[in-house]
Amino acid sequence: MKDKDLITSLIRPEIHALQAYHVPDSAGLIKLDAMENPYSWPEALKQEWLEMLRDVPINRYPDPSARSLRAQLKQSLEVPADMDVLLGNGSDELIQLILLGVARPGAVVLAPTPTFVMYKMIATFVGMRFVGVPLATDFGLDLAAMRATIQQHQPAVVFLAYPNNPTGNLFDEQAIETLLRESPGLVVVDEAYHAFAQRSFMDRLGQHDNLLVMRTLSKQGLAGLRLGILAGDPAWLAEFDKLRLPYNINSLTQASAGFALKHKDVLDEQATRLRAERARLLQDLAALSGVQVWPSAANFILFRTAKPADAVFTALRQQGVLIKNLSGAGGVLANCLRVTVGTPEENAAFLAAL
Ligand SMILES: *Cc1c(COP(=O)(O)O)cnc(C)c1O
Repeated sequence: MKDKDLITSLIRPEIHALQAYHVPDSAGLIKLDAMENPYSWPEALKQEWLEMLRDVPINRYPDPSARSLRAQLKQSLEVPADMDVLLGNGSDELIQLILLGVARPGAVVLAPTPTFVMYKMIATFVGMRFVGVPLATDFGLDLAAMRATIQQHQPAVVFLAYPNNPTGNLFDEQAIETLLRESPGLVVVDEAYHAFAQRSFMDRLGQHDNLLVMRTLSKQGLAGLRLGILAGDPAWLAEFDKLRLPYNINSLTQASAGFALKHKDVLDEQATRLRAERARLLQDLAALSGVQVWPSAANFILFRTAKPADAVFTALRQQGVLIKNLSGAGGVLANCLRVTVGTPEENAAFLAAL
């Protein structure tokens, strides 16, 4: 490119300054970096799925509102009867739709930090201001600071990952209730790890006009489908639906997710196994010297090493194990790493390498 000036004159400076979301190469490695479910389906179930896909009319556009899948999800996720769901190409797209809807000049997105990085990234994409409120030292909400900052900045949206990524903890329920009452704007409770936490604000949707609950099938074993779910009052969802690009949920995803939900017992059984593995991995990590570990309600574990985390991360990768190095963020995450709970064999390989 000869004319770099054209780029800098056209592209907004806050976008030019960004780094694209980085996904490291995992070829040949034991992949414990992205909270994927390590299990696939039994062979017979795979066959049944492929048979079903044979009849999906891919020459036609998908059902634009994914009516049948939405009905299935409402039931499966126990969405209250008077509420509805809006589907996104991953919950990332739903975060984008919400923020597109509220992004007026000067509008603020607020979240406790550290948290899921996409809240801030997408706020930047749509030209909103992101305000982070540091978590308390135990990674709980600093309620006084949250209340004061909400008071000061009047955020259009507050995001609460429940449980939080990358810390793995569930925030105090009463603290969230307080924030729901005191927030002038929307409060999105992001329950991406619901299968592993088994705690939810879904049944409180009718109690707060400003509450939305977000889920995803990604962490439960269907990351490749890209399906996020936003549950809430139909009046809110109707607004965000206007911003949704037509046919955002493709036919193969609609059919496959519908199929998977019919066999939800398989996914649930895998989640149960992963919760048991999480307890074992937590115990084994805690028994190592030079490792500080935090309890988790998700399918990953945050830990800190006495040795520099960068070196630990590199040495693990050299031994064929890919986890997530969070150390670059500094602050409370200095020398912290995050490992996804894998199969017993993968976890053993990780522990041996560590
Ligand atoms: C992984 C994750 C998501 C993203 O989910 P997708 O549906 O795959 O886009 C959302 N929120 C949190 C807190 C996550 O950790």
